[in-house]
Amino acid sequence: MIWWFIALLPPLAIALAYGRAPLFAWAGAGFAWLAAAGWAGGWGLMAVAAVLAVYAGVMAIFLLQPVRRGLVTAPIFRAFRAALPSMSQTERDALEAGTVWWEGELFRGAPAWSKLLAYPWPKLTAEERAFLDNETSELCRLTNDWQDNLRQDLSPEVWQYIKDKGFLGMIIPKEYGGKGFSAYAHSQVVTKLSTRASAPAITVMVPNSLGPAELLLHYGTPEQKSHYLPRLAKGQEIPAFALTSPWAGSDAASIPDAGVVCKGQWQGREVLGMRVSFDKRYITLAPVCTVFGLAFRLYDPDGLLGTEPDLGITCALVPAAHPGVDTGRRHSPLSGIWMNGPVRGTDVFMPLDFIIGGPKMAGQGWRMLMESLAAGRSISLPGSNTGMQKMTARAVGAYARVRYQFKTAIGRFEGVEEALTRIGANTYLSDAARVMTAGAIDLGEKPSVVSAIVKYHVTERARQTVNDGMDVIGGKGICLGPQNMLGRAYQQIPVGITVEGANILTRSLILFGQGAIRCHPYVLDEMHAAQANVLGAFDKAFWGHIGYTVSNAARALVMGITGSHFVGVPANVAPETRRYYQQLTRFSAAFAFLADISMGTMGGALKRKEKLSARLGDILSLMYLASAVLRRYEAEGRQAADAPLMHWAIWDCMFKAQNAFEGVIANFPNKLFATLLRRIVVFPLGRPYVVPSDQLGHEVAKLLIEPSATRDRLTSDVYLPTDLEEPAGALEAALAATLAAEPVEAKVRRAQKEGRFDPGLLVGGGVDAVWQRALEAGVITADEFAVLRRRGELRDKVIRVDDFPYDFGLRAALAQIEPQAAAAVKAVA
Ligand SMILES: Cc1cc2nc3c(=O)[nH]c(=O)nc-3n(C[C@H](O)[C@H](O)[C@H](O)COP(=O)(O)OP(=O)(O)OC[C@H]3O[C@@H](n4cnc5c(N)ncnc54)[C@H](O)[C@@H]3O)c2cc1C
Repeated sequence: MIWWFIALLPPLAIALAYGRAPLFAWAGAGFAWLAAAGWAGGWGLMAVAAVLAVYAGVMAIFLLQPVRRGLVTAPIFRAFRAALPSMSQTERDALEAGTVWWEGELFRGAPAWSKLLAYPWPKLTAEERAFLDNETSELCRLTNDWQDNLRQDLSPEVWQYIKDKGFLGMIIPKEYGGKGFSAYAHSQVVTKLSTRASAPAITVMVPNSLGPAELLLHYGTPEQKSHYLPRLAKGQEIPAFALTSPWAGSDAASIPDAGVVCKGQWQGREVLGMRVSFDKRYITLAPVCTVFGLAFRLYDPDGLLGTEPDLGITCALVPAAHPGVDTGRRHSPLSGIWMNGPVRGTDVFMPLDFIIGGPKMAGQGWRMLMESLAAGRSISLPGSNTGMQKMTARAVGAYARVRYQFKTAIGRFEGVEEALTRIGANTYLSDAARVMTAGAIDLGEKPSVVSAIVKYHVTERARQTVNDGMDVIGGKGICLGPQNMLGRAYQQIPVGITVEGANILTRSLILFGQGAIRCHPYVLDEMHAAQANVLGAFDKAFWGHIGYTVSNAARALVMGITGSHFVGVPANVAPETRRYYQQLTRFSAAFAFLADISMGTMGGALKRKEKLSARLGDILSLMYLASAVLRRYEAEGRQAADAPLMHWAIWDCMFKAQNAFEGVIANFPNKLFATLLRRIVVFPLGRPYVVPSDQLGHEVAKLLIEPSATRDRLTSDVYLPTDLEEPAGALEAALAATLAAEPVEAKVRRAQKEGRFDPGLLVGGGVDAVWQRALEAGVITADEFAVLRRRGELRDKVIRVDDFPYDFGLRAALAQIEPQAAAAVKAVA
């Protein structure tokens, strides 16, 4: 009988842990179990009473808060404080900036799916839709990337259009003359522009991100707002934001640029101000800016502002024409023709009023930057890099159907299909993550971890997509010129990887590092309590933390053993996605436990173990991306035809997340923990996911190579010129012509195969001579021949590449575009 009771113990403990039972429930259950086991084992009344008394005494230590604090928590608290790595104010500002959103649910092991499904899916207002369809399309039409490349600038007409139509003031409220657009509308505009070229997109992106309307809106004084915001909105000011220095890139908080509070002359009178020296590089729009945000460290050695000599990082708004400021020189960012360059100045005197928010905000710059970063990082690069992917999916899919080798459309070869599959699914996923995250900003969130997730993963997926696209189109992508629809995107891809938090750093340090502290329900409280030396608060957080960890272990184990089949899922999800919700819940619980064990066993050392931190960040990110795909699928009305994209994207996320789990466990420093983690908690019955199947990949690839509503949804709002001299325009027409011609071509081939028609020697007449012979032999009608001829003409437009005179036509082109520039080139020659 006693053995039955002993066997009952693990399930009882697991049930309590699974249900996140409070400590008194554990104590009560333990009490009841001991009493019952004693009775069943025939221990005798006295023995049972003695055991229960000892048990009650031990439990009392844990249940009575003052006793627990003194006897148990206090020594742990001391050890925790000693082990807690020291943190600078800038690190603290970075960690604590922004809000926690859906990623918090995924982090904590029990995501409330109903919350995800209840988030409104963003929509454009009629005004925003009209701006996207009219002004944004027109800006795309006016942009000619190849000519801009020769000119090394957008045309004056395009610059004027950007300013006049309010592209630089999309996030500025209407009361200041801006568009007052939602974050989603802003993202849509950037996405669409990026389907055309990088230059207009980047030119528009920066002023609507940090530079510096966002900072002014949140922190500017009323005078700064009323002076600058209307001017920025109308394009009377071109802004930039200068943080990066040659010595401080990723570690931006260590900028050596410095200002000293002092008195000086300003507009004919002596005022209190700052003498600032700065050397900044890589600053987007700097060569043409009229005003720029400047980040520097402000010192007050003479105590003119107060008692603090080192005030910290400060953000000022400096007119480019201010005496001593040096702008105008350019970098060449991988031949991107958008403006980027250095900003310099030595001992430049500026009044304190230049500080964004006025003198009271001196030293608050880092916090301001960190708090404002999330919005821009959620929009700019996710938007631009999704745009590149949409364009790739649309154009490369069409090319793969139009381009034949071995008498077959190359998109039908399994090898090419693999690349097309990734292009399709990555585009679907990136767009889902982009839209969902822009929606979070519109809900008032400043999701610092999510913005890093979506920036990192969308730019990495875009790199994969564009690389895949380049492989599919072969030499067509290599030869630059107006007929190349992808080569310039390929050149620009590393920009997104590097800026707004370089990707290696983002993956290695931020995704999990910041995620763990921000999303964890107890760690930040523990840290605050330790820093403030408050034992009571630590006690509460610490014991909550223990219960949470034990519960996640139990949940992961039970869901692992049962294949998570019984996990509750909201009734209103599409039946074909039910299992994904269940398995994501399981992964979430396993991740929460793994994250805790990693932090618990490695502590501060985890910060240096970047490879482990990166993989933990991968798991969190991939769960977020999979959630976005599920949300998109529901928001778009569970389109059955789109299901292959959804399934492939989710299998890919789950398989990669599973590998990331394995990567953490296999490299876990403590091998005993590693074995326990793998065998008991994370993969008790082995790993559930394999790569998405070839058949599923085939279904995805097929969606890219023929027109359909799915293809239109996947590539919605891509700019499609109607001009057949433009590659994107020619591709659309060629795809339609190819589809029309395929049955006729098949008819000719069948006739040849069956011996009904012998074209003879096809000397001369080009690749399509066989069609002429088929017409002459009566195998096809004149109408059918016309269909074939149109396909041939459009195919030839699509596959052609540019060739140039020896000097690439530079002199002639410049003479056409800008006679003065051509004269200068000629003079040099
Ligand atoms: C085209 C372009 C436009 C830009 N626009 C602006 C702008 O408008 N305003 C502005 O202020 N700045 C701008 N930047 C600067 C940009 O934000 C920085 O380039 C970026 O922060 C990286 O700094 P870095 O290039 O000096 O690289 P580094 O900091 O030298 O980093 C080099 C590599 O080391 C990695 N790394 C660094 N530290 C770690 C770590 N602890 N763990 C793991 N990996 C690490 C990075 O991920 C990167 O891969 C721009 C840059 C470019 C290239």
